[in-house]
Amino acid sequence: MKRVLFIVILLIAVFTSAVALADSPTEPELLKVHIINVGHGNAILIQAPQGQEILIDAGRLEYAATVARYLRRLGVAEIEHVIATHPHNDHIDGLYYLLNIFSAQRVIDPLAPIDRKEIRDYMKFVASKGIPIIEGHAGLSFELSPGIAVDLVGPVKPCNFRLNDNSIVAKVTFGETKFLFMADAEITEEQSILTSGADLSADVIQIGHHGLYTSTSQELLDSVQPSFAVISCAGKERPFGRCSKSVIKRLDANNIPVFRTDLHGDIVITSDGVNIQVETAGL
Ligand SMILES: [Zn+2]
Ligand SMILES: [Zn+2]
Repeated sequence: MKRVLFIVILLIAVFTSAVALADSPTEPELLKVHIINVGHGNAILIQAPQGQEILIDAGRLEYAATVARYLRRLGVAEIEHVIATHPHNDHIDGLYYLLNIFSAQRVIDPLAPIDRKEIRDYMKFVASKGIPIIEGHAGLSFELSPGIAVDLVGPVKPCNFRLNDNSIVAKVTFGETKFLFMADAEITEEQSILTSGADLSADVIQIGHHGLYTSTSQELLDSVQPSFAVISCAGKERPFGRCSKSVIKRLDANNIPVFRTDLHGDIVITSDGVNIQVETAGL
């Protein structure tokens, strides 16, 4: 029933490019997921109805001012949880800017068993801000606010040679609606998550590794069964190697509509706990 409602609403959202927020006299409680267009990179803000936030990644440094403007426009002053999915520059470098402007209660990081100077520098920077760093891995769960569960399903085990396969993969559940954020998990991590037996079912999946062919196996899609997908990826900026045709074809073959930041700009997904609506900003 939820899915039928969703499809109707999604089509309306696509054709009008607008979110039709409920017009009821009592304000509905809405969870908002903002996939911010940061070119090649990742920056997602999740806002609970009571105002608590999760920032999943911060994009590259050159997009940090864009992300900061976006957060300010939403009235964000403090970020409860920063999930730094893995320490690649297109995910964490923006933190060097954002954490000078916004306070954060904690940074959740996979603490990958890989020693590199840039990772040590980033950890030192976060520590210098007095922000606690929490190890994020499968099994860690918390409530963003009452009724909104955040469950980490990856990484299941540390990978000592690939940062992408140490990505924090998070599932957010609000009422009957579920969101899965794959970060840059590639096939190896997908497989370990699938064999872990975690419940991956979700209405919305953020496609892993910017839509690159390294990720998004049929097995994963079979397990998640999403109603639609979002991809944070660059278009002309990176004409080769990003958002692979094979992934787009696979999503198409599975009848999964796709929203992409390189085609649709910022993407805002709104859930009232039952229905999901999509708004795209356009480019
Ligand atoms: Zn990336
Ligand atoms: Zn990466």
